[in-house]
Amino acid sequence: MQYSAIRKMAQMSSQAGIISFSAGAPSVETFPAEEILGVTSKVLAGESQCALQYGATLGHSGLIDAVMELCAERGLPGVRREEVAITGGSQQALDLLGRILVDPGDTVFFELPSYIGAISVFRNLQARMVGVRQADDGIEIEDLVARIRQIRGEGGRAKVIYLIPNFQNPSGVTLSPAKRRKLLEVADEYDLLLVEDDPYGEVYFDSSQPADLVPVKSFDLGGRVIYISTFSKILAPGLRTGWVVAAAPIIEKLDLAKQACDLCGSMLDQRIVAECWKQGIIQKHLPGIRVFYQAKCRAMLNALVDHMPAGIQWTRPAGGLFLWLSLPRHLDSGELLLECLESERVSYVIGQPFHVNGEGSHTMRLAFSRENEDNIALGVQRLARVFKSHPG
Ligand code: PMP
Repeated sequence: MQYSAIRKMAQMSSQAGIISFSAGAPSVETFPAEEILGVTSKVLAGESQCALQYGATLGHSGLIDAVMELCAERGLPGVRREEVAITGGSQQALDLLGRILVDPGDTVFFELPSYIGAISVFRNLQARMVGVRQADDGIEIEDLVARIRQIRGEGGRAKVIYLIPNFQNPSGVTLSPAKRRKLLEVADEYDLLLVEDDPYGEVYFDSSQPADLVPVKSFDLGGRVIYISTFSKILAPGLRTGWVVAAAPIIEKLDLAKQACDLCGSMLDQRIVAECWKQGIIQKHLPGIRVFYQAKCRAMLNALVDHMPAGIQWTRPAGGLFLWLSLPRHLDSGELLLECLESERVSYVIGQPFHVNGEGSHTMRLAFSRENEDNIALGVQRLARVFKSHPG
């Protein structure tokens, strides 16, 4: 096990006066706290015996109903109850899935870069972690196929592709519709499972739901795609509620793993989330959340255009909380971070820990979720000042 670089940097950058592009948590301003207070009172007044008791390992049935409805709205109709598990955030879903799917030495494929929390899960399980290049439209299929063949050629067990298709953490990149279909063909051809992690799909910046965010799982006839999502970005992460949609035999195994892990999740939290869905609180708040992050993202993109020197590149996310910045290759984002913190009081997360192959020392993740638009502009200006002082 290794200490997460993100947590370490989040601690450093929580000092007063630092403009933080490292804190990737949702903004507290997006939490419907008043409504959650009302819902919590209602749940405790009406259902306290169940809400305060142990409950079903796979989750409160009212929340499973809500998840089935929510999935249908995202382009995943016809999900059956036995295909759903409620988990303690999607992080627990990743951990439990890792335990039931992966033996030490099995190969898991990750995008370069990918989510550190998933990398930690599979590292802890002693999986062999293989990186696959990412383009502006998502994972590079040819590279994936080449890596799968290489692992197989070496006699390795290629088992799982882990992927975040929408507004990826950390890069902000979205997988194109053509690649979604192609990816499933590759998984079919090489008999791999695909873990589709989708915490950010609802946080899009278009005025209506983009058709190209349709889940890979929606094309899955053979039950090889495991879809994971969460209420963390559309309601509140403190409620620690996420879910898995997968073929029933996988959910049965997950049930066993989860029993050993926590017996069951918090019935109080799950009932609060279910009631928030039933009362339409989540649905009502989503448009505001989208506009909120869109404005911040725009502020960051504008500031980057205005201030960054030549030779620096960044992604242009259409949703989510992050963008990805690449310095010229000779620069090390870890070395520059100290200077950014000490002399300019601005922080980011270094890119290397997001790479399972150890690359990425010239890259970084910039989160636009925490700071207001003025601070975003100021922070980018400060970063640019440091980068300009290190010309090639
Ligand atoms: N997957 C990804 C890609 C994430 O970015 C996060 C949150 N940072 C998670 C999973 C876990 O989120 P949670 O456990 O709050 O659902």
